[in-house]
Amino acid sequence: MARKIRDASWLVDEAAAEAPAEPCWLCGRPLGKTVDRFHPIPKSRGGRDTVPVHPICRETIDANFTASELVRHAESGTPLTDNETVARFVKWVAGKPADFHSATKTGR
Ligand SMILES: [Zn+2]
Repeated sequence: MARKIRDASWLVDEAAAEAPAEPCWLCGRPLGKTVDRFHPIPKSRGGRDTVPVHPICRETIDANFTASELVRHAESGTPLTDNETVARFVKWVAGKPADFHSATKTGR
């Protein structure tokens, strides 16, 4: 049984150590310089875990969901993009640079 020599493995390791590229929890794009932490289950409802999001994504979540709605989404495993406004936002922001930010339009 012949084994291939993985002579490029050091390259992979080094890249992984330098950039732990965690994608945004909401839109899935790479994060920029400013990273916001978001509670999928609000702190007021006992949520302790946070996920990394873009500031603009966090504002979109805050503008479109109440604490109760966030809990319902987290418990049922329904993605927030199930919300039409959020789905439209994610599609729209997909082509923007990671640090893109603008005055938030709430869509309400
Ligand atoms: Zn994002």
